[in-house]
Amino acid sequence: MEQTKCLIIGSGPAGFTAAIYASRANLAPIVYEGIEPGGQLTTTTDIENFPGYPEGIKGSEMMADLKRQAQRFGADVRFGVVTNVDFDSRPFVATIDGEKQVQADSIIIATGASAKYLGLGSEMKYRGQGVSACATCDGFFYRKQDVAVVGGGDTACEEATYLASICKQVYLIVRKPFLRASKAMQERVFSTPNIKVMFEYNTVEVLGDEDGVTGALLRHSSGEETTIDISGFFLAIGHHPNTELFRGKIDLDEEGYIKVVPGTSKTNIEGVFAAGDVKDPHYRQAITAAGSGCIAALDCERYLLSKK
Ligand code: NDP
Repeated sequence: MEQTKCLIIGSGPAGFTAAIYASRANLAPIVYEGIEPGGQLTTTTDIENFPGYPEGIKGSEMMADLKRQAQRFGADVRFGVVTNVDFDSRPFVATIDGEKQVQADSIIIATGASAKYLGLGSEMKYRGQGVSACATCDGFFYRKQDVAVVGGGDTACEEATYLASICKQVYLIVRKPFLRASKAMQERVFSTPNIKVMFEYNTVEVLGDEDGVTGALLRHSSGEETTIDISGFFLAIGHHPNTELFRGKIDLDEEGYIKVVPGTSKTNIEGVFAAGDVKDPHYRQAITAAGSGCIAALDCERYLLSKK
């Protein structure tokens, strides 16, 4: 069976940053890219808030650069999905695509999280063309325009408030007759004049043309339908961490995020580390994911040294 000192699962900013550091520490890491090589950033357009890119950069380009940088130092980046892990055996054993097995002295989990979408065909059609699940990333492109945010939790309220500071009108589409967000967040929303909260509305379709989103068709719980004119449609209905593979094998919190020792990447299993959105329900930024990938590689290197 193939062996490695360090196996990295996932290829977003966390996985590739971990790979850069681990390869520079002579750990010769193997990286399995997973179902979505490059991670969530490959589904956004321009990234303008990652330090070092004053003109911004396309998400897919940045991920290609990070991959090349990791490979330059010897990281073995492979197309493939880890379909099983055995954390009980030492070395650990990972199964790739249900077939091949790799033994690993240490594992860095960087499988990320995925934004939830409503599941509408039109929403998929305009993804990256007005439909976004990240106001912090994409809001700037809708300056002085009208946009909608779907959701009634803290994220939706935070994103609506953020968008209200740069956009003309923000519609907050809430399926219930109340917001689930904290009181403080609700007060901010209600006291922002250019946020219109639309309670008990669901989205029937996102409307658009060849240039992208132009509106949304909404249906009230009474059955009444209405159309809003918008150029940006933001989903804020939650994220789910990509931890199905690890359920029952590693400590997860109630929402499924991997638990780590605060300030580190250490999980409850010695030799298994977590980085990026898979352990971070709060910040979820490319730069924070990259930083935590660095932390994971350093923790991993120290762990391997301690076992020598
Ligand atoms: P939440 O799960 O708290 O809220 C999701 C919202 O989306 C709910 O209002 C939910 O509606 C709605 N929703 C879910 N599915 C659909 C759907 N299919 N159609 C329409 N609406 C839908 O997720 P958040 O991302 O807001 O927050 C996650 C966690 O992070 C929370 O614990 C939150 O408190 C925390 N957080 C804290 C922040 C802060 O303190 N600054 C900022 C951001 C997040 P319904 O209520 O009907 O279920």
